Amino acid sequence: MTTSVGTPTTLDLGPATGLSCRECGHRVPLAAEFACGECFGPLEVSYDFGAVRREDIEAGPRSIWRYRRLLPVPSDVDSHPNTDPGCTRLVRADRLAAELGVRRLWVKDDTGNPTHSFKDRVVAVALAAARTLGFTVLACPSTGNLANAVAAAAARAGWESVVLIPSSLERAKVLTTAVYEGALIAVDGNYDDVNRLATELAAEHEDWAFVNVNVRPYYAEGSKTLGYEIAEQLGWRLPSQVVVPVASGSQLTKVDKAFRELGELGLVEPTPYRVFGAQATGCAPVSAAFKAGQDVVAPVRPSTIARSLAIGAPADGPYVLDAVRRTNGAVEDVTDEEVVEGIRLLARTEGIFAETAGGVTVATAKKLIETGQLDPDAETVLLITGDGLKTLDAVADRVGPRATVAPSAAAVRAALGF
Ligand SMILES: *Cc1c(COP(=O)(O)O)cnc(C)c1O
Ligand SMILES: [Zn+2]
Repeated sequence: MTTSVGTPTTLDLGPATGLSCRECGHRVPLAAEFACGECFGPLEVSYDFGAVRREDIEAGPRSIWRYRRLLPVPSDVDSHPNTDPGCTRLVRADRLAAELGVRRLWVKDDTGNPTHSFKDRVVAVALAAARTLGFTVLACPSTGNLANAVAAAAARAGWESVVLIPSSLERAKVLTTAVYEGALIAVDGNYDDVNRLATELAAEHEDWAFVNVNVRPYYAEGSKTLGYEIAEQLGWRLPSQVVVPVASGSQLTKVDKAFRELGELGLVEPTPYRVFGAQATGCAPVSAAFKAGQDVVAPVRPSTIARSLAIGAPADGPYVLDAVRRTNGAVEDVTDEEVVEGIRLLARTEGIFAETAGGVTVATAKKLIETGQLDPDAETVLLITGDGLKTLDAVADRVGPRATVAPSAAAVRAALGF
């Protein structure tokens, strides 16, 4: 775990010591770089953690900054304005467990973040690192939730923001970004087009921190906090199985990384765990590669109601396959019909209204259980990463009042069938 680069750096990014290439191991000092100069592989943050104790974490703030000793952020990170996400609930889901036929089930409810999705975690870390790296504008290409998180974090920090979205995005996600009054640009194209555009713009505007492009190595580390929190909330131990939605695949790989780090640092017993990936069939390139036994992920053209997961060319796809195969997990996908059923099942059993990505996770868990891939006797955590209020259209024609009646008790009783 203890790694360091040859060139010392003067930047204070906490325990981060440099960036290293995931493919060839080439190392560079901490900077706003994301691709290896030798092989174009993705760069990842390296650390020298030293000793990290549970007590230090437990004494920290009720936000992701309690894990700052494990993140590429400055030691005074919580003295700067940021959205301070994290410490969302881990809910024991007994009624959902009974429906699914499993014994011990938990839901990590990340709808409780400031802009109602897990993206606040990654953006908060990206903003903190970007400030240290000297940026002044926060930017992103987004499928929706990232747009919300970037616009809100920039507003709070007093930064300008530039947010690029596909013009087909759900109205709720457009409005919940626009309200922060940064620069929001709708692009005629799908997410992969918008992403290409962002890469081009990032090369031309050196003061723009595109959170998931030129500061992606830092951004990605924010997803580790989901793994840390789950372990801490379980009483400093790892779950046996975790089901994670997959868009670019970054979140899944970082939850796995968090579990490994906790074990290596002695913060938890390094017990075995299995990581499962969840996709919508209308955009399931990683699931397809997993099932075909391939190492490369062939891009697809997305067509699914789960737009927050609609990345047809997932940057971390191959690393998802690595993590899932190494931990004896799987990647599975579900139809849009099953996604809607997943949303409704979670709502009626646990009182949690998830967006389509949550429907993907619940429905995929159900399918993994039915097909014998997920062990019903092992403790399982489902990651619910976004709020249903942002994707109301998914359920709009399925749910509604049972009846519309005159304002009389008799009419209500009649409608209830008494
Ligand atoms: C972005 C997103 C994900 C997945 O993110 P990746 O790290 O790109 O795989 C999952 N759920 C929701 C709600 C998201 O917005
Ligand atoms: Zn390389």
